Amino acid sequence: MSTKYIFVTGGVTSSLGKGILSASLAKLLQARGYSVTIQKLDPYINVDPGTLNPYEHGECYVTEDGAETDLDLGHYERFLNVPTSQANNVTTGRIYQNVINKERRGDYLGKTVQIIPHITDEIKRNIKYLGNKYKFDFVITEIGGTVGDIESLPYIESVRQLKWELGRSAQVIHLTLVPYLNASGELKTKPTQHSVKSLLEEGVQPDILVLRTEHQLNDDIKKKVALFCNVEEGAVVQSIDVSTIYEVPLKMKEEKLDITVLKKFGMPVGKEPMLEAWNSFLNRHKNPKMEVDIALIGKYVELHDAYKSISESFIHAGAVNECKVNLTFIHSEEISRRNVDDILKNYSGIVIAPGFGHRGIRGKIEATRYARENKVPFFGICLGMQMAVIEFARNVLGFTGADSTEMNEVTKYPVIDLMEEQKGITNMGGTMRLGAFACEIKPGSKMYDAYKKDIISERHRHRYEFNNKYYEEFENAGMVPTGINPDSGLVEAVELKGHPWFVGVQFHPEYSSTVLNPSPLFSAFVKACTQKE
Ligand code: GLN
Repeated sequence: MSTKYIFVTGGVTSSLGKGILSASLAKLLQARGYSVTIQKLDPYINVDPGTLNPYEHGECYVTEDGAETDLDLGHYERFLNVPTSQANNVTTGRIYQNVINKERRGDYLGKTVQIIPHITDEIKRNIKYLGNKYKFDFVITEIGGTVGDIESLPYIESVRQLKWELGRSAQVIHLTLVPYLNASGELKTKPTQHSVKSLLEEGVQPDILVLRTEHQLNDDIKKKVALFCNVEEGAVVQSIDVSTIYEVPLKMKEEKLDITVLKKFGMPVGKEPMLEAWNSFLNRHKNPKMEVDIALIGKYVELHDAYKSISESFIHAGAVNECKVNLTFIHSEEISRRNVDDILKNYSGIVIAPGFGHRGIRGKIEATRYARENKVPFFGICLGMQMAVIEFARNVLGFTGADSTEMNEVTKYPVIDLMEEQKGITNMGGTMRLGAFACEIKPGSKMYDAYKKDIISERHRHRYEFNNKYYEEFENAGMVPTGINPDSGLVEAVELKGHPWFVGVQFHPEYSSTVLNPSPLFSAFVKACTQKE
């Protein structure tokens, strides 16, 4: 069959969950046997979100092919269990960069380069690329931002053109909000009507409306929305708040969103979607047999989206262990030698989050020392592994002032140092060590217990690395490198001998954890936390 294109736009406010809606619809279509991919188009001018502070835009998600992308791609992978790539996330910056490069090459010689058709053609090329190259049955394209924004205009215009070109092979789903007014006890449809009107002004008639709501919508409300917005009654779908994002596919199934989509494409509906594994995960997630309290030490703790993949990995790992993981975010700047015992005494496990720069480092090192000395399960991710190495160097090896050259360029003991390949790099965008790399695991290690494999592949995003000059000193004193890159010899994991569970990894296992394929390392860590006396 030829690829079908579904566009998901958003109205009224941001943060309505276009990403989760897209992933949920994709899940249902995938569970019916179709191949599906999801793409996010972001209207900002950064070429990618790699240089954005997590406070601005949440976590930067890294794909296997080393693209720094929007965190929604993490949801796509967690829901679908299929890898995404650079092609799944395109920003306005990248679109303009491509067009300007073509202009400089002379591809448009003689022409005035304009938003329409040149920018819109480039947008359309990026949308159709996934269908043309990989022949997916469905490509779901989520348009970032809210309809009516100046910056999303070229995207909506591209959708308009594609709907025209592709005819019955394209559909638009518009996600809006039906707010509830407490004072009058009413649900209000006017914002939805207005946002559909804006979409119509830009030439796009939505085929399906998904209405986010805190309260059940009755048939009258659905009828009213259908009437005012030129959509069929059956194509007005309610999306009510649920306790976990992983329940949204089931809610959308109840609302027959997948069936409405298939019918509108003129496709046979076929059998029920196969969601056994999904349901069994949800069942374990919702009926835990125990609870465990884990502290995540980071510096973007006010915004939980900054550590999205880590929190989701704990949900997957919790379900594996039939255990509810209560993850508490603690700001590393609040931790000092004086209060660390008090702050951390009630946790069964400590995670040190990834990060950049020297702010909050001291607290992370104190928390690491606390975990090492008190034999509390410890999991250091990327910067977290570097903290474990620095703490061990300072407090066990007696390397006074040991540091990463990221924090102190002139330290006497650069136990973490800039990678060779990074020296001389001056551009900040997309130049880290990015993407999936192989890692060879030492038998008998905690890593091996978790992965049960000699060679794994995990994703990276960093510039600094364990300094192999100190390899033997660390190993002899009890901090053992247990994961090594077979090609470069870089140390990708360290463990502490004689500790119940102390693992630091230079890679980001959280990026590859999915509902159907939870991260073995997160699962092993949660298990160790449940066994802590
Ligand atoms: N800042 C560290 C580095 O660049 C760690 C990066 C991270 O935690 N993702 O090596």
